[in-house]
Amino acid sequence: MRVLGVEGTAWCASAAVFDAETDSVFIESDPYEPDSGGIHPREAAEHMGDAVPRVIRTALEHARTAYDDRDGDQPPVDAVAFSRGPGLGPCLRVVATAARALAQTLDVPLVGVNHMVAHLEIGRHRAGFDSPVCLNASGANAHLLGFQDGRYRVLGETMDTGVGNALDKFTRHVGWSHPGGPKIESHATDGEFAELPYVVKGMDFSFSGIMSAAKDAYDDGVPVEDVCFSLQEHVFAMLTEVTERALSLTGTDELVLGGGVGQNQRLREMLASMCAERGADFHAPEPRFLRDNAGMIAVLGAKMAAAGDTVAVADSAIDPDFRPDQVPVTWRDSAES
Ligand code: ATP
Repeated sequence: MRVLGVEGTAWCASAAVFDAETDSVFIESDPYEPDSGGIHPREAAEHMGDAVPRVIRTALEHARTAYDDRDGDQPPVDAVAFSRGPGLGPCLRVVATAARALAQTLDVPLVGVNHMVAHLEIGRHRAGFDSPVCLNASGANAHLLGFQDGRYRVLGETMDTGVGNALDKFTRHVGWSHPGGPKIESHATDGEFAELPYVVKGMDFSFSGIMSAAKDAYDDGVPVEDVCFSLQEHVFAMLTEVTERALSLTGTDELVLGGGVGQNQRLREMLASMCAERGADFHAPEPRFLRDNAGMIAVLGAKMAAAGDTVAVADSAIDPDFRPDQVPVTWRDSAES
């Protein structure tokens, strides 16, 4: 099974080829970088329109040249998978249109993938875990997922903004360019602790109050390095606390990390140390699989296609609010290849 994946839920136009036999993933990405401010949906969609055909061409070229097991009459891939949601509607529509056209041209099945389940499944796949809890710490989302009765259930989630978006809002206030997370990480190395709100309610967390407090602290003259350091300590401790509770409540001893904020070393360190203390296995995929990427779409797309979980073009509408617990997990007992 060889699958072409297409991703473009927000900022990253990306196409990938996953070859199940060799377990290899080729990814070609082209990020949208706003001149100022955050992600503007119309500009992001224009970027998708421009970049998606380009990254698909490169990925298809790879599929045609990197393997020598097919003659020119055969399609270079066995299915086309695309991010169906959640994400920005105008971006999702570009990606879905491209994926539908490609599947029809190549005459191969179309697979509609939930982007957040893909963030989880790429970690499960790379780690070889059976049934992990997943912390998705991405730009527009923050939630804990666990598998029960045929679906990934949302065990806990943000009550307001996504964790990465919250970090980005602070850096926009300071005048730094998007994305803000890596800038917070580099400035935090020289910072000292300052008190900020810490909001965990049961299995859920909230980031909007801490963001306002961080902006106020900066405006009141607290050194930006101290605010960055303290933001990381508070926000990542909140995520780690709820993650530990999710492991404890489910009795699971496997944790995978997903999402762009998962590239942060301090978050990985806190999760690794919490897992080590309770004897759980922790897997953080390599950065190319954490930020938005089509590799995770192609990998989950292959599992779904192998399970016969494909979609007719007429039924392949996008869903900007597609939640992970809306997805029946069809692929876990299949051959997965
Ligand atoms: P989603 O998957 O929810 O649609 P998204 O499309 O915004 O999210 P991701 O690539 O998962 O995209 O995450 C992007 C976020 O990751 C941005 O908010 C960015 O600031 C944050 N980020 C990237 N690198 C780091 C880092 N080193 N530390 C903290 N945050 C980071």
